[in-house]
Amino acid sequence: MLANLLDYDLEGLAVFCERLGEKRFRATQLFRWIHQKGASEFDAMSDLAKSLREKLTTTARIQGLAVTREHRSTDGTIKWLFDVGNGDAVEAVFIPEDDRGTLCISSQAGCAVGCRFCSTGHQGFSRNLTTGEIIAQLWFAEHSLRRLLGREDRVISNVVMMGMGEPLQNYGALLPALRTMLDDHGYGLSRRRVTVSTSGVVPMIARLGLDCPVALAVSLHAPTDALRDNLVPLNRKYPLAELLQACIDYLKYAPRDFITFEYCMLEGVNDQDSHAHALVDLVRLHGDGRPWCKFNLIPFNAFPAAALSGSSRDRITAFARILTDAGFVATVRKTRGDDIDAACGQLAGDVRDRTGVAGRIAQQRTIRLVPASVAGPGLKEV
Ligand code: SAH
Ligand code: SF4
Repeated sequence: MLANLLDYDLEGLAVFCERLGEKRFRATQLFRWIHQKGASEFDAMSDLAKSLREKLTTTARIQGLAVTREHRSTDGTIKWLFDVGNGDAVEAVFIPEDDRGTLCISSQAGCAVGCRFCSTGHQGFSRNLTTGEIIAQLWFAEHSLRRLLGREDRVISNVVMMGMGEPLQNYGALLPALRTMLDDHGYGLSRRRVTVSTSGVVPMIARLGLDCPVALAVSLHAPTDALRDNLVPLNRKYPLAELLQACIDYLKYAPRDFITFEYCMLEGVNDQDSHAHALVDLVRLHGDGRPWCKFNLIPFNAFPAAALSGSSRDRITAFARILTDAGFVATVRKTRGDDIDAACGQLAGDVRDRTGVAGRIAQQRTIRLVPASVAGPGLKEV
């Protein structure tokens, strides 16, 4: 069995090279060829000795993912569907903006958390992705975008783990992937430009803080345990008080950062003024009085099985205003890629119809925010 070199962060690759009887610094050269230049063949690696290239050919490979579909939106959003075998597919979405290029990637095929408003959750869990499968989404997207756009410099400046799956329930594979994203010899992304989004796996939040304190987004969706138990079943295991404490503790490893609370706006469920006030009370209860979090309100992307409706634009604005009036930054996520069904949770039916894949698809997250002029006064852009 040939080792897939996409499975290794730089340290792992150094260990691999040592086992081959090679010096550790060879790993750096190899790592740069793979991640910075997008090489998939050892023969292309001209500054590696022929003997090493031959050794690599018999022991290793650079195995990306098979792309089964690509959709390009008129707004520049590009979505790829990757086949991960056994009828499972995962999705990555590229969202270009004036000042950044964000890639949203998946960590699992399916998800075991089972949130009520999430199409991935409704599909159930298939399996964890390997480190190689997680990083292959970035490797593929970065290098195919460079070719597509005719660029030699970096195209992707931000990565968000907001695709399919719960990243903190696949921690062992996630960590080397994050390290590869951050490594100067890899993608060289800054810690604050890589975001892990979690539904609240409390013990793993602490581990992430210790190991690799990237930006943290927490999918809150409710201000009380009773409501959150119902929307995010993991809350029964890790209730709000524990979750918020874990968030506060996380900031010790990421000073001057803030936690982003994601809040999917569901009509009549969690979107009333009383919920917004309860949210303010909840976060004020924790922390030391300094601003430590911001809110990202997400319009719900409906799908039939959810039997839920999204809040109206006016309701979202009113909700956001309560948060901003209380002194918090609240942003409203704008949907992108509508013309290619790239919006959150919208691809599932599409894929099922055309490919038989059981709708195991991520939700596209858009990072661009509604301008203050559209969203109404009091809403800030970040
Ligand atoms: N499992 C992780 C990351 C993937 S989901 C998590 O839950 O955080 C990324 C974000 O999309 C989460 O905030 C999630 O709550 C949100 N989301 C899921 N389904 C959605 C839908 N149908 N409409 C809008 N947002 C959704
Ligand atoms: Fe899993 Fe996140 Fe979807 Fe919940 S919202 S089911 S944690 S992918």
